[in-house]
Amino acid sequence: MGKVIGIDLGTTNSCVAVLEGGNPVVIPSAEGGRTTPSIVAFGKSGERLVGQLAKRQAVTNAENTVFSIKRFIGRRWEETDQERARVPYTCVPGRDGMVDVQIRDRTYTPQEISAMILQKLKQDAEAYLGEPVTQAVITVPAYFSDAQRQATKDAGAIAGLEVMRIINEPTAASLAYGIDKQDQDQTILVFDLGGGTFDVSILQLGDGVFEVRSTAGNNHLGGDNFDECILDWLLASFKEQEGIDLSKDKMALQRLREAAEKAKVELSGTLSTSINLPFITADETGPKHLEMELTRSKFEELCAHLVQATLEPMQQAIADAGLTVQDIDRVLLVGGSTRIPAIQELVKQFCGKNPDRSVNPDEAVAVGAAIQGGILGKETTVKDLLLLDVTPLSLGLETLGGVFTKIIERNTTLPTSKTQTFSTATDGQTVVEIAVYQGERPIAKDNKQLACFELTGITPAPRGVPQIDVTFDIDANGILSVSAVDRATGRQQSVRITNRGGLSSMEIERMRQEATIYAQADQIKKEIAELRNQADALLYSYQSTIKNHGITFTPDLRARIEPVVQSMQAAMVDDNITPDEIRKRMEALQQALVTLGSVVYQQTAGGSMMTSTPTMGGATISSQSTQVLDSDATVISDNEETVVSDYEAVD
Ligand code: AMP
Repeated sequence: MGKVIGIDLGTTNSCVAVLEGGNPVVIPSAEGGRTTPSIVAFGKSGERLVGQLAKRQAVTNAENTVFSIKRFIGRRWEETDQERARVPYTCVPGRDGMVDVQIRDRTYTPQEISAMILQKLKQDAEAYLGEPVTQAVITVPAYFSDAQRQATKDAGAIAGLEVMRIINEPTAASLAYGIDKQDQDQTILVFDLGGGTFDVSILQLGDGVFEVRSTAGNNHLGGDNFDECILDWLLASFKEQEGIDLSKDKMALQRLREAAEKAKVELSGTLSTSINLPFITADETGPKHLEMELTRSKFEELCAHLVQATLEPMQQAIADAGLTVQDIDRVLLVGGSTRIPAIQELVKQFCGKNPDRSVNPDEAVAVGAAIQGGILGKETTVKDLLLLDVTPLSLGLETLGGVFTKIIERNTTLPTSKTQTFSTATDGQTVVEIAVYQGERPIAKDNKQLACFELTGITPAPRGVPQIDVTFDIDANGILSVSAVDRATGRQQSVRITNRGGLSSMEIERMRQEATIYAQADQIKKEIAELRNQADALLYSYQSTIKNHGITFTPDLRARIEPVVQSMQAAMVDDNITPDEIRKRMEALQQALVTLGSVVYQQTAGGSMMTSTPTMGGATISSQSTQVLDSDATVISDNEETVVSDYEAVD
């Protein structure tokens, strides 16, 4: 088996590392850098440049130079308005509503562009190791959706790499950090602010095991945003000074963007920097030069909102881990943007301790990926470390009354597999719909639907009798498969949620915030739905009793009970009803059922037993029992498969 390389496929820069004799080594690029700009350029005569060479010619070939492709990978056209407006290259709608990049008369998927970067890293690794490289571990931000993870895997395959594992960047970083300290139990906050994404993770280290307790973050926050702030300031200042708007001049913009980044980097070490761009433009009076001075305090003023925006995800991650800030033993800084002094200061203030910077922020992620690669490649010198990641949001099903029944709770350690048994809601039901949702709200439709499929051919039986095992299985890469099997017939359906299934980080954030805001109202909605499920069972019981023993009851008794039943039926559809009112009507109906029951009993006393009245719990599919499977268990069979809407059937 050859070496398994570790790749940090970054928004701005990428890095590749490998384990040599048990020690992680960062592989230098052919140009001599320890990281490679994640940039691909297409020259006039069709030549392709990747990395530093692409970056160097970006000014003169802005339209054909693709950067920040990670912002598009696995994402839908309508999710990317902001990003598309910001890049100088042309984006066009791609297959399945995704985003493609148009370069002259050809379009490329983000997977293809990413593959070009991966190919370059693979080549550099092969040159360094002197042997072919075919296997890799690639990292992604913790918030990457299923679709984004899958697309990243596809990019690896296009580049000729077998992607052994996709792991979260903060997990990889902490792996790099923890390798020498495995005997210390500790809780770590990983603060990862790179070029385009921000992740906070809370990790528990103990007994050689890393466990991600929680993650939070923002896919739209990174060093690029800081550059944009300086860029906007430069544009506004130049317009004020010269009366010229440079924002439509693509070439000038590219130069300004580079100068903005350079100024930002310098301001991490100095208190003031000058930005000089001669011949930035020209008008009838001649050439114009841009000369400006930017102080660190002005920069901090321009970017204060970005620095502040890192606070909430930190609070969220700590709360989700069930901890307080005092429980954090170490704070680990990852990503080039953590070199910004204002960021370091904020993290220090918030956590009440100095962040640890013993890990090189630009290389930690790749080093961690290389360590994981070493484990998978059976590198003998690496102690067997288990690497555990978590689900960012809960996953479950819609059950009767629109209730969201969680199968896998948010922040569950991956890989995981859980099975719950459900049943039918009506007599003779032969089809159940499995609607899969992701989110935290108690009512299913308030969450994001990932897939919906039907299990057909269930043997007709009274409601509540069929047993349908629904299994949610999430693999180590965070990709979800759902299957449903009817125990009686063995019929099975399953989906693997790959396309369109994921949530953007913005959606995740929105859903989390909404879950908090609507918590009280949601609770009432859920209570009503649950009460209605119980009421539905009572109504069913009433109808069965009338069907089986109708003739037993006097017209007078039926006339007295009829309004109680009608009032209950009205409660089932009244949007303005309160839980207390439903309870009141249920009590009345229960009383009525007791009365009917005693009449039946009196009539049959001394004779044959009363026909039993089914009193099944009522869910479209109703939960009966929960069984946790071994995490390695596979339950997907090829018994029956369908392609469900936009999702891929399992093969
Ligand atoms: P990464 O994705 O971790 O490679 O981070 C890249 C981001 O870090 C880019 O936005 C860089 O501009 C930024 N960066 C790198 N070095 C520094 C520095 N010394 N000060 C501020 N930002 C930096």
